[in-house]
Amino acid sequence: MALRIGLTGGIGSGKSTVLAMLRERGAAAVDADAISRATTAPGGAALPLIAQRFGADFITPEGALDRVRMREQAYARPESRRELEQIIHPLVGEEIASQVEAALAAGARCIVFDIPLLVETGRWRAQLDRVLVIDCEPETQVARVAARSGLSPDEVRAIIAAQAPRGLRLAAADIVVCNEGLSLEALRNEVEQAARSFGL
Ligand code: ADP
Repeated sequence: MALRIGLTGGIGSGKSTVLAMLRERGAAAVDADAISRATTAPGGAALPLIAQRFGADFITPEGALDRVRMREQAYARPESRRELEQIIHPLVGEEIASQVEAALAAGARCIVFDIPLLVETGRWRAQLDRVLVIDCEPETQVARVAARSGLSPDEVRAIIAAQAPRGLRLAAADIVVCNEGLSLEALRNEVEQAARSFGL
């Protein structure tokens, strides 16, 4: 059985960087966000169900979910957000299961689930052997994300404020990689130590 690791951290903490390092060491990666987005992208598995439940006018000419229309709908009828989630969640679960199966068939010893909202959503925990949290100071997050995205520092602070509080994330962690004041090379050393404990 492969070890199942949940990887999370606030925006700009270094999750993607750490995930890339774990993959270099042979971990298989499952990107929960990308899987979720794909269900409502053109040709996504959720679209026929969305058209059935909400109407064909919720689908764009390109064949994707019309997010603007859905946002308006969720504002007018708050329960429609849950209805949409009830369509998407089982499809995401199926796709994750099939990616896990493929990773196991390929002989992966460790599967890393990239779950930005792991702490916020809670329901993941039972499927994971360990939770790996990447942590740094909020102002480091702000500096990294502002440099990468062109968002203003205040815009980044607003995103951070909307995410799970740092303390809650740390409380959910089995392993913490502190990505503060580290060069990328030093971060790699930290990640290698964690990776060895995952059998990589
Ligand atoms: P996340 O996926 O958590 O949002 P990223 O891994 O994309 O974060 O990191 C955010 C930015 O900060 C990226 O541009 C990344 O290259 C940079 N970064 C992360 N950790 C370090 C580090 N230890 N040293 C230098 N740059 C870093």
